[in-house]
Amino acid sequence: MKLVNECCCGCNTKVTDLAKVNKCPVCDNEGISVSKVPVEHLVADDYRMTVEGDGYWICMNEDCSVVYYNTDIGIKFLKDQVSVPIWFKKDANPRYACYCSKVTEEQVIEAVVKNGAKMVKEVNAITGAMKNSNCKEKNPLGVCCHKIIQEAIDKGLAMK
Ligand SMILES: [Zn+2]
Repeated sequence: MKLVNECCCGCNTKVTDLAKVNKCPVCDNEGISVSKVPVEHLVADDYRMTVEGDGYWICMNEDCSVVYYNTDIGIKFLKDQVSVPIWFKKDANPRYACYCSKVTEEQVIEAVVKNGAKMVKEVNAITGAMKNSNCKEKNPLGVCCHKIIQEAIDKGLAMK
């Protein structure tokens, strides 16, 4: 999955440092750098106090149960230690396309298939996605949900 900075909702997020890679301690795949902000907000309450350091990585491997990790300080958070399902992980349920407004991939696909939406703007109008944007804290990558919504639209369009 390629991440580009495509914010269109004014949430002012940006992909921090794409050049910085670090391998997942469990599956050995390269993770994506995320700031501490979404980690602090999304780990389950019981683990919040253990969030240390400034930077984390997120494991993008759908089969791996690791979500956030920082190998420098030896911390990792697994799927069941994070309070929201991570959309690209296997068995995520529900699978959110927009974490800020809790709109699921299913709702986006329905807007495409049933209501004929083709663009993110149209989907947002139908589903209420990206209202009250606070992607920095609520999106697991700390970046704008735009990209995930676009991927869900593409899935919906492919089904038509
Ligand atoms: Zn992993």
